[in-house]
Amino acid sequence: MSASARPQSQKTILVAGGAGFLGSHLCERLIRKGHRVVCADNFSTGTLENVRHLRSSEAFTLLRHDVVHRIDAKVDQIYNLACPASPPHYQADPIHTTKTSVLGALNLLELASRYGARIFQASTSEVYGDPNVHPQVESYWGNVNPFGPRSCYDEGKRCAETLFHDFNSIHGVEIKIVRIFNTYGPRMRPDDGRVISNFIVQALKGEDITIYGDGSQTRSFCFVDDLVDGFLRMMASPVSLTGPINLGNPVEFTIAELADQVLELTGSRSRIVHRPLPTDDPRQRRPDISRAMRELGWQPRVVLAEGLKATITYFDAVLAAKGRKLTE
Ligand code: NAD
Ligand code: UDP
Repeated sequence: MSASARPQSQKTILVAGGAGFLGSHLCERLIRKGHRVVCADNFSTGTLENVRHLRSSEAFTLLRHDVVHRIDAKVDQIYNLACPASPPHYQADPIHTTKTSVLGALNLLELASRYGARIFQASTSEVYGDPNVHPQVESYWGNVNPFGPRSCYDEGKRCAETLFHDFNSIHGVEIKIVRIFNTYGPRMRPDDGRVISNFIVQALKGEDITIYGDGSQTRSFCFVDDLVDGFLRMMASPVSLTGPINLGNPVEFTIAELADQVLELTGSRSRIVHRPLPTDDPRQRRPDISRAMRELGWQPRVVLAEGLKATITYFDAVLAAKGRKLTE
C-alpha cells in the first residue's frame, strides 16, 4: 500500500524486543489493529519462531538489531521491550544487561526525539526491589541492592526510567512508562527459567518441581493478553499521563500454592523438591493497580487457573513437537 493510500490512523510502530514473549504478542495485536510494525531484536532470548506467523504480512518488518547501538527508522511510536526478563538470562551477561537497559533507552529516546515519536518503556516491578511497602504503589521508591546479582536488571531499569523522565522534561518527548509485574502465557520459552514456565515444563515432563526456598514468598501473576491490553491503553492515553503506572494482576499467591495449582491442572505426579533461595529474591510482590484502574480503565480479567490452562496447552504442544514429552 502506498503511503498516501494508507488510512490516517495507521501508524508505523517500532517494537524493540518484539521477538520475545511479550513483544511477539504486542506485534501481533498492533498488526491486527492495522498498524505497520518494525520489530527490532538481537534474538538473545527472543526467537524467530515467535514471529514466524507475522512474516508473511507486508505490514511486518523484522530487523536483527541490538539496541545498545544507534538505530534510525522513521516511526510514529516506539515500544521499548528489549531486555532479557528472566533472572538466569539477565544474569548470564550482567554488563550487557545494564547496557541494554541504559544505552537501549538512550538510543531509542534519541530516535523518539528525532522524529517526534511517542515512546513506551517496559519497566518492571523489580524497581521496587525487595519491597518494604506492600502492595507496591508507584510512589514507593523501592528497596534495591545496587550490586547484587539482580542489580544489572533492577538498576538498569531504574536508570532507564530516569532517562525517560529527563527526555520528557528537557526535550519534550512524549513518554509512557509502565511497571510490569510477573506476566506469563504462551510463547514463554520452555528454558526461560521463570517460575511458571519451569513448573509447567517440569510437571509435563514428570520431573521434580523445583521450589526455591520454602515456597512462602509471593508473586502476583498476570496473563499476557491482559497485559498487552494495558500496554495499548497506556500508549493511547493523554500526553500528560507519563507514568509510571503499575500493570499486573493484584491477586497474590505463594510459590507453594502455584506449584499445587500446576500439579492439579496438569494431573502430573511430579514430586515437589526444594532448592536454595536465590540471593536477593524478593519476599513478596503485589501491585497496587488503583492508578491503572483510574487513569486507563484497566484491570486484568483472566484468573490464574484459566491462564495456566492456556499456558499448559501451549507447552504441551511445544514439548510434543520436540518429542521431549516423557509422560503421557
Ligand atoms: P523476553 O526475554 O522474552 O523478551 C525480551 C526480548 O528482547 C527478546 O526478544 C530478546 O531477544 C530482546 N533483547 C534482549 N536484549 C536485547 C538487545 N540488547 N537488543 C535488542 N533486543 C534485545 O522477555 P519478556 O518477558 O517478553 O519481557 C519483555 C520486556 O518486558 C522486558 O523489557 C522486560 O524487562 C519487561 N518485563 C517483563 C515482565 C514479565 O513478567 N514478562 C515483567 C517485568 C518487565
Ligand atoms: N522460583 C522457584 N522455582 C523456579 C523458578 C523460580 O521457586 O523453578 C521462584 C523464585 O525464587 C521467585 C519466584 O519463583 O521467588 C518468581 O521467580 P521468577 O524468576 O519467575 O520471577 P521474579 O523472581 O523475577 O519475580
